[in-house]
Amino acid sequence: MSILDNRPALKAEIDKVAEVALYLWQKGWAERNGGNITVNISEWVDDEMQKLPAISEPRPIGKRLEHLEGCWFYCKGTGKRMRDLARKPMENGSIIRILPGCESYEIVADAPVAPTSELPSHLAVHDDLLAKGSPYRASLHTHPIELVALTHSRKWMQKDVATNMLWSMIPETKAFCPRGLGMVPYMLPSSVELAEATIKALNDDYDVVMWEKHGVFAVDTDIISAFDQVDVLNKSAQIYIAARNMGFEPEGMSQAQMRDLSEAFALPK
Ligand SMILES: [Zn+2]
Repeated sequence: MSILDNRPALKAEIDKVAEVALYLWQKGWAERNGGNITVNISEWVDDEMQKLPAISEPRPIGKRLEHLEGCWFYCKGTGKRMRDLARKPMENGSIIRILPGCESYEIVADAPVAPTSELPSHLAVHDDLLAKGSPYRASLHTHPIELVALTHSRKWMQKDVATNMLWSMIPETKAFCPRGLGMVPYMLPSSVELAEATIKALNDDYDVVMWEKHGVFAVDTDIISAFDQVDVLNKSAQIYIAARNMGFEPEGMSQAQMRDLSEAFALPK
């Protein structure tokens, strides 16, 4: 028995999470238990599901997130591997509901898998997305090799320097990651400071934010789209590296060519 039985729309969302988890593993972006995924699944929760009893004690979030009233989330489990989640999403993640007051949650299905230790920061991002009326429902944290490598240089950590280079490698990168790559300087993983800096960078009009010497944090309407934004950025980084390996600095598309692209496809930047 699974909460996903007879709920094809909800199952389809969890299937997307499993699909992305497999890609993360195959790309080498998800070593050991690296990376996190949380999805706001509230819109697929029916009346019957609302009445289901909890299978855990209420657990504190650690802060009050007022826009999460009545929300439900799928969360990767703490210490769980993406490669295992890809095969068995409900054994390596769980479905939780936020309790009235928005300061605690309980696990409802399928197994009492404790959510990621990053849950408070992921929930804080979801709270902020709802506060600003965003249609985004999925958040992804992963370790894309070439993008992380870029952040080991001061040059690429400056605002929009990496964005410009990545956009200029291939037109699709600007078209499919049209807000570019925000940069957050190194901070302790799981810290409140990192969560706050991430929200600030997302609000500075980025969908994908780079954590220096660590990984990316991306948001989008669903988890497939969040993955795609990171994937196109990393592809550009690989093209840059391929050119450097061939012994030259790649020319890149010109600023005029990139402006034309923005006009032709009505891109936000
Ligand atoms: Zn990480």
